[in-house]
Amino acid sequence: MTSSPQNKPADQTRIAQDLLRWYDANARSLPWRVPPGSNRPADPYRVWLSEIMLQQTTVAAVKPYFEAFTTRWPDVEALAAAPEADVLAAWAGLGYYARARNLIACARAVAAAGGRFPDSEEGLRALPGVGAYTAAAIAAIAFGQRAVAVDANVERVMSRLFAITQPLPASRPAIRAAAGTITPDARAGDFAQAMMDLGSSICTSRDPKCLICPLRADCRAQAEGIAASLPVKPAKKPRPERTGTAFWIERDGHVLLVQRPDKGMLAGMRGLPADGWTARRDGDGSPPFGGEWRDTGVCVRHVFTHAALTMTVLALRDEPGSAADGLGGEWWPVGQLGEAGLPTLFANAVRAMQETDW
Ligand code: SF4
Repeated sequence: MTSSPQNKPADQTRIAQDLLRWYDANARSLPWRVPPGSNRPADPYRVWLSEIMLQQTTVAAVKPYFEAFTTRWPDVEALAAAPEADVLAAWAGLGYYARARNLIACARAVAAAGGRFPDSEEGLRALPGVGAYTAAAIAAIAFGQRAVAVDANVERVMSRLFAITQPLPASRPAIRAAAGTITPDARAGDFAQAMMDLGSSICTSRDPKCLICPLRADCRAQAEGIAASLPVKPAKKPRPERTGTAFWIERDGHVLLVQRPDKGMLAGMRGLPADGWTARRDGDGSPPFGGEWRDTGVCVRHVFTHAALTMTVLALRDEPGSAADGLGGEWWPVGQLGEAGLPTLFANAVRAMQETDW
């Protein structure tokens, strides 16, 4: 059965109250949060930074990055003033690198406007890298605005609470409308965070723990025995498999690293020179210049959002004055490549090369 927000659970007010009561006793302690019911507002910079980092990434993975960023750049002005290369290097390993570039653009936009984040969803939505969910989450958590923040966790809880059986993404308007019916006017930030916590700890994808759920009495999917089957997801498209080559050019104990193109996969990040692979096409295997390139046997695989890449590494012992000088880039000491802020794909290739006797 497909429900609409008109098919409301028994008591929307009770749902918010039950959820907030549960949150008061069970809220996760996270470095970007203030405790539930706190009179102290959350810092918009820390809320924004955490929300951008948490897009597509787990809380456990984000925590050390959040600590490192806020130690090094304690406010938005400090981050705005940082060189882009430093921020990208500090982001390395967190993935989805377009976020890091938007992070810098957003920090600079906020700093240029006086260092204060807009306090409305609309104003926040106009910032680089801030989508509908993130704007709503910041408006609610940092500014106490009543805002309906719907991410994948909330989609799951709403689909179940209201037994919305229409497949995603067509069900999104109904999910959003349903979430709007239970979002309270007061404690908007706590409500948004309570939803996040419920979705990550109780109403989980594979194994909803309905027996201990604070919303059990009002949950239609639980009553109908269909909780684990919701939300109904669209059939997945197969992820394309790409192949590519990276080039290890070694000279006097140093290796050449270049900055990747401004657009496409790992845009703007440091990496080994490569043969032009993208999410849409394989690399052509051609080295950047002629020479005695050796097949090192090193092969790494990395799964990106839109493609999986299998990358082999060719290597060359190089001399000063060679064609490598025309590639630009920086010569990094082999023993210090771990400090170059390489994205995971290249960091894995470097580690494998450091253990290879080529
Ligand atoms: Fe999710 Fe079960 Fe709670 Fe319903 S009762 S919201 S399905 S955990």
